[in-house]
Amino acid sequence: MSEMRGVGIGLGVAQGVVVRMTEASPAPENTPSTQGADVERTRVREAVAAVASELTARGGSAGGSAQEVLEAQAMIAEDPTLQDEVDTRIDDGATAEWAVHDAFAGFRATLEAVGGYLGERAADLDDIAQRVLARLRGEDAPGVPDPGHPFVLVARDLAPADTALLNLDQVLALVTFDGGPTSHTAILAREKGIVAIVGASAAADLTTGTSVIVDAAAGIVTVDPTDDEKDRADERADARRSADDAPLTPGALADGTLIPLLANLGKPADAADAVERGAEGVGLFRTEFLFLSSAQAPTVEQQREAYRELLAAFPGKKVVVRMLDAGADKPLAFLNDAHEENPALGLRGLRALRASEDILREQLTALAEADAATEADLWVMAPMVATVEETQYFTSLAREYGLKTAGVMVEVPAAALLADRVLAHADFASIGTNDLTQYTMAADRMLGSVAGFQDPWHPAVLRLVREVGAAGARLGKPVGICGEAAADPMLAVVLVGLGATTLSMAPSALADVRRMLSTRTLDEARNLAELALAADDAAGARLAVADATAPLPPHQQKETTS
Ligand code: PEP
Ligand code: MG
Repeated sequence: MSEMRGVGIGLGVAQGVVVRMTEASPAPENTPSTQGADVERTRVREAVAAVASELTARGGSAGGSAQEVLEAQAMIAEDPTLQDEVDTRIDDGATAEWAVHDAFAGFRATLEAVGGYLGERAADLDDIAQRVLARLRGEDAPGVPDPGHPFVLVARDLAPADTALLNLDQVLALVTFDGGPTSHTAILAREKGIVAIVGASAAADLTTGTSVIVDAAAGIVTVDPTDDEKDRADERADARRSADDAPLTPGALADGTLIPLLANLGKPADAADAVERGAEGVGLFRTEFLFLSSAQAPTVEQQREAYRELLAAFPGKKVVVRMLDAGADKPLAFLNDAHEENPALGLRGLRALRASEDILREQLTALAEADAATEADLWVMAPMVATVEETQYFTSLAREYGLKTAGVMVEVPAAALLADRVLAHADFASIGTNDLTQYTMAADRMLGSVAGFQDPWHPAVLRLVREVGAAGARLGKPVGICGEAAADPMLAVVLVGLGATTLSMAPSALADVRRMLSTRTLDEARNLAELALAADDAAGARLAVADATAPLPPHQQKETTS
């Protein structure tokens, strides 16, 4: 038995056998064909047709937006211009493998040079080329395997489309050896309630067929566990399933202090699930998720319909909608398609919106119209705000459109350090711990190699949260948390101790956070926050809080409770 460490997503535990994600095989060599052009051409035609029909079939079973993505890929595979490119190479004596590899690579370079929406489709071409090559070579296609039985998926990382397509009846757990805790793989895994550990670098050595326990709460993958360990893991998984059925009470600490628990959502269709899991409103609606594949800015009407549907699901409840957050990990072709060396530090969030103010104004128009047609309590906020002036700019613009409650996200250390001055102009602040951690620790949230730095338990991040919490308390303004940190139950308690007044998270995390909050008073939360702040690093902060909250061994319990 051995153990591998990574960053757990949520508190789940699962056990099963490993199936490795099939990785792309090496590029072919450019050796001349020995079979002749006719044979090579037929091989390509057959492989392309098989790949296109497989993609269409997968789309059909996935449905929704995944179906659109996969059907578009099937069409690209059979694109006549691409076929011509392949044929030209075959006519020059290339093998089917080389012709496909080279023609797709050429097409990819052309798309990348065009940039924008088409540039973003370049990665799709790689995926399709890999599938056609695998067919030609008689190998398994790269991507999520389908072994016909439940399994633990082990992968370097997953493309968003792969994560969205995971069959939850088959995938018991997910382990990645790359990818950080705030990568979009992690966000989607949490959204889907998948037991997951990301950034477990040693898992690169796990082979298909190995038995493992994936303990997300501890961030540990146990290899070749004993029967006893497997039984304990099953018991914990059962206990968690029954905890999920606990009553949906409002979020509150043990002393009755209310901490509303809100949902992070990316599309209106997910609202029903959030309500079912007891979300008391929406703390972050990521509007850019609606338009990630749009080449043109959405119209006011399109937006109004989407916002109306969202707001209608929460009558009388708070719904915080974030303005389009384009850039870096969430590129929007119509807002920022210029190449930047460091996109996370570039024209993103409010900066990009300001550069295209007509798009910002249209979004505010659509929100005001949806607000007028529904009963929810709509709050709006701007992403990536760094200065007091940006705060003034956004909140006064929102008020121009009659939107009553306008605030800002605190994701940049500068905004946290001047939180009192920022909050003087905003109705509320919402701390995005994913970006706040990225910028505080100077660690790209997309990069597995720096995942160790991307930890919101770091006392430097917690100090900034305290700064905002204290400013909110002084000015009587709400301070929410809407980054992934709010979904970590113990950290959620610490964040409340630092002054957070609401917590917003993927709906699948609500039950665990609700349960943990109910075990601590506000004074206890503040004491735990002090312990975390006093640590030197994230691991120390976790440990200090874990030590202070660990149940005492039975023989010590009596003496200390007196
Ligand atoms: C954050 O940065 O914490 C946040 C909530 O926004 P996003 O993850 O969408 O960047
Ligand atoms: Mg962010």
